[in-house]
Amino acid sequence: MLGPPGAGKGTQARRLSERLGVAHIASGDLLRNAARAGTAIGLKAKELMDRGQLVPDEMVLKLIGARLHKDDAQKGFILDGFPRSPAQAQALGAMLRAAGWAIDRVVALSVPDDEIVQRNAGRRTCRNCGASFHVVFDPPHVAGKCDKCGGELFQRADDKEDTVRARLKVYEESTRPLVDYYAQQGSLARVNGLGKTDDILKRILKALAAPKQTAGTSAATR
Ligand code: AMP
Repeated sequence: MLGPPGAGKGTQARRLSERLGVAHIASGDLLRNAARAGTAIGLKAKELMDRGQLVPDEMVLKLIGARLHKDDAQKGFILDGFPRSPAQAQALGAMLRAAGWAIDRVVALSVPDDEIVQRNAGRRTCRNCGASFHVVFDPPHVAGKCDKCGGELFQRADDKEDTVRARLKVYEESTRPLVDYYAQQGSLARVNGLGKTDDILKRILKALAAPKQTAGTSAATR
């Protein structure tokens, strides 16, 4: 899943993983878990994450590499938040080739910047299960409590407005080039990320069912 922070990658990846019966692997969750566990990688990563900067590739690749080899990933997986740069995309390609796997499809969720800032500022995340809510667009049934597990909801440090703007800049510079990279490979499906969660999921499923573009003939390059 590609898209700016707050485009809905996590929400949609979670729904898709339930629907398709494949693992949901979110690099941000792996890093936050490492930070919570107090591992060396986690502690170094936390400082960068709180500032909205990318964590060095070798740390992320180590976590992703280990995660891809867990049992629940052997039937397939949805990557959320990784890769985030051309170097990571190349490293992913090499990891997949070595395992005899390939990317089926890259879903790019598009959402305008103003909406992104509004969405991130109102996002509340469950400390226990990682589910996200929004104070206005998707409020929990009981304020401050997760609908799914009853855990406490909090605002991620990197969802504060200044940090969201820094993350958007990092997205534009480092991650957006991947949209063209995967379009060139014929794996890209662009999906409008505005509207109700259920409608966006329907659009993604429709895009996944459509035939792939031949490499180099995506809408952007035709
Ligand atoms: P996310 O939960 O995907 O929004 O990620 C939260 C933060 O974790 C990002 O702002 C980065 O600091 C870090 N992060 C997550 N995924 C990556 C990645 N693939 N490469 C580098 N840093 C990452």
